[in-house]
Amino acid sequence: MSHPFDFQDQLATIQANKLYRQRQILEGPQGVEIECAGKRYLNFSSNDYLGLANHPDLVKAFTQAAHDYGIGSGSAHLICGHTRAHHALEEELADWLGRERALLFSTGYMANLGVISALLGKTDAVFQDRLNHASLLDGGILCGARFQRYQHADCSDLERRLDRSTATRKLVVTDGVFSMDGDLAPLTTLSETAQRHAAWLMVDDAHGIGVLGGRGQGSLQIAELNQTQIPVLMATLGKAMGTFGAFIAGSEELIEFLIQRARTYVYTTAMPAAIAEATRVSLRLVQEDNWRREKLVELVKRFQQGLVQLGIQAVGSESPIQPVLLGSSQRAIEVSNALKQRGFWVTAIRPPTVASGTARLRVTFSSAHESVHVDRLLDAFDDLL
Ligand SMILES: *Cc1c(COP(=O)(O)O)cnc(C)c1O
Repeated sequence: MSHPFDFQDQLATIQANKLYRQRQILEGPQGVEIECAGKRYLNFSSNDYLGLANHPDLVKAFTQAAHDYGIGSGSAHLICGHTRAHHALEEELADWLGRERALLFSTGYMANLGVISALLGKTDAVFQDRLNHASLLDGGILCGARFQRYQHADCSDLERRLDRSTATRKLVVTDGVFSMDGDLAPLTTLSETAQRHAAWLMVDDAHGIGVLGGRGQGSLQIAELNQTQIPVLMATLGKAMGTFGAFIAGSEELIEFLIQRARTYVYTTAMPAAIAEATRVSLRLVQEDNWRREKLVELVKRFQQGLVQLGIQAVGSESPIQPVLLGSSQRAIEVSNALKQRGFWVTAIRPPTVASGTARLRVTFSSAHESVHVDRLLDAFDDLL
């Protein structure tokens, strides 16, 4: 008899299904080139879409703030961990996005769990896109409300479900840009559908913020939707913004309520003030430097045109997430390994992160890439696919 906590068999099954995950140990900073085990790789796997994670201005702001504020924040925001740096960042984020207020969370995962479970309880209902990020789905389970997943980007399926619901509060939740496919949610129709049913819409714009819209204000800005149409906006700081953490932006009342009730806000240590200061600098660059977004669009266009020329089926999203579908996990691993041999870092994404039979290479671009990098990747695809 094996011990109940003996995981040998389960680990063996994961391995046999080609779903075993292993961490690779990087030496040095995030960037277009990364170093691992003494070799350098051209990186097409990061979410550092604007190449800010190792930007000298951010490093300088972080170092200076470490001198001013130290490293640890020492406590939760509500005890004595909320500094001038955090507060200024919240005000600047709210200004940028045209919302009354913003509230920092230590990670996006925690923001999603905290908000959904603060807003909803047993007599409520939450409606989520099937392809939403795991943290949203987990928030839906944790909150205890009736939890339904509608077909991906399907507003009529959502409408049918809302019609049937007798819940007190109804919350519709979607990614703004879907993290594994790169496609944009139909925000205008979603918000109209939600409003017809007196439901609230929450958008997780982890992959849209900084990347989409004139000053990088994300998918809500390109859809031209305001705080009434989308009451709850969540976005992360660890992707295009190049730092760490997340925030919720919305009405004064929403933010005050979250400060009282979001358990992942109340019961956790505040992010270091130095992270907040570095993010303030990042926010300035994100707003001012439109060239990063323009370059990203050019790189993506070049990649998509290249795929067409090679006769490789392109998914064709409008975001820097450009998946190349390969089907089986086995094949995705093989191609990813072959690319690695040639000096390309392109992670294979397998179930359960994506649906069975849709394993893929998740190619992502950064404005720090050059067109020659895109061409090199296309050459490798030409040989391998
Ligand atoms: C990355 C991500 C999160 C989680 O954010 P973290 O700050 O990494 O915890 C949440 N939602 C989406 C859509 C994401 O891509």
